[in-house]
Amino acid sequence: MTIRAGLVGLGKIARDQHLPAIERTDGIELVAVASRNAQGDGVANYPDLGAMLAGESSLDAVILCQPPQVRYHAARQALLAGKHVFLEKPPGATVSEVDALVSLARAQGVTLYASWHSRYAAAVAQAKTWIAERRIESVDIQWREDVRHWHPGQPWIWEAGGFGVFDPGINALSMLTEIVPEPVTMLSAMLEVPANRDAPIGATLKMATASGAPVAAVFDWRQTGPQTWDIAVETDRGSLLLSEGGNTLRLDGEVQVKAPDEEYPAMYRRFVDLVGDGAIDVDLAPLRLAADAFLCGRHCPTAAFED
Ligand code: NAP
Repeated sequence: MTIRAGLVGLGKIARDQHLPAIERTDGIELVAVASRNAQGDGVANYPDLGAMLAGESSLDAVILCQPPQVRYHAARQALLAGKHVFLEKPPGATVSEVDALVSLARAQGVTLYASWHSRYAAAVAQAKTWIAERRIESVDIQWREDVRHWHPGQPWIWEAGGFGVFDPGINALSMLTEIVPEPVTMLSAMLEVPANRDAPIGATLKMATASGAPVAAVFDWRQTGPQTWDIAVETDRGSLLLSEGGNTLRLDGEVQVKAPDEEYPAMYRRFVDLVGDGAIDVDLAPLRLAADAFLCGRHCPTAAFED
């Protein structure tokens, strides 16, 4: 059976990644788009999810690519209509709403997939295997990028529930919680919030693994020039560096993996399998760590920031 899917929110990530990945994936086809402003090519177009659900009675799945603040209502609507649901990351604006979606998906007997694209980066699986055979001594995350380059014209990202610098930072947390084989806890956080915004532009986090190894992270949106998306792990038997957002792996300084980004096709293969198995895949660990940073973090006002 081919999954007949409808996509909501034809923004940057939908165009850059979802449309080409669906095109390349067996077992799923895009039949409709719901967008307030745009039109999908070669598919039925609707102004919103309600109209799409009403107009496409044979739709199997709904892919939600809007900002996190509006995703919960849409996900509920799709699940109540009996559709399988694919959530972009982060899966919601709060932990409680994603928990509620899991219960609803279970009650409806449909698939709910909380995607974490960075976990599908080329070197993550190998990093996980390597770390599993060692004792972690420390982890250092450096996630520094230029918000003006990566998020132009996205006011939602600066509003409450938009995550600010945690929008990219949660990608690091999704990899961290994938490659470290024990729980990671948030100890303290410092969040730098521009005077004219609701969400942080910078964050310094102190975490620890359950067995006590320190995990430090810096997320910064003010980096111009070379961009940095690195996770360094020191162990009792060598060091590991995941860079390029998880697509390059160095062990003791030697490059082991350097591969192009194939994250979204891998996620769509996963979604097709989940629907086939009638399964739910929702791991809240990255979202919980981000939420904990906001809970225990010191909010420090910083200079106003204009796009
Ligand atoms: P975006 O370019 O701003 O697109 C989001 C789209 O959602 C908008 O174009 C709009 O589409 C729709 N939308 C519905 N309600 C909205 C509202 N209240 N405010 C703004 N847009 C609304 O954002 P994006 O970069 O694609 O990010 C969307 C999600 O994907 C975020 O959760 C983000 O973390 C995730 N993501 C983004 C990237 C990336 O590189 N940009 C990478 C991975 C994941 P219509 O006009 O069609 O209604």
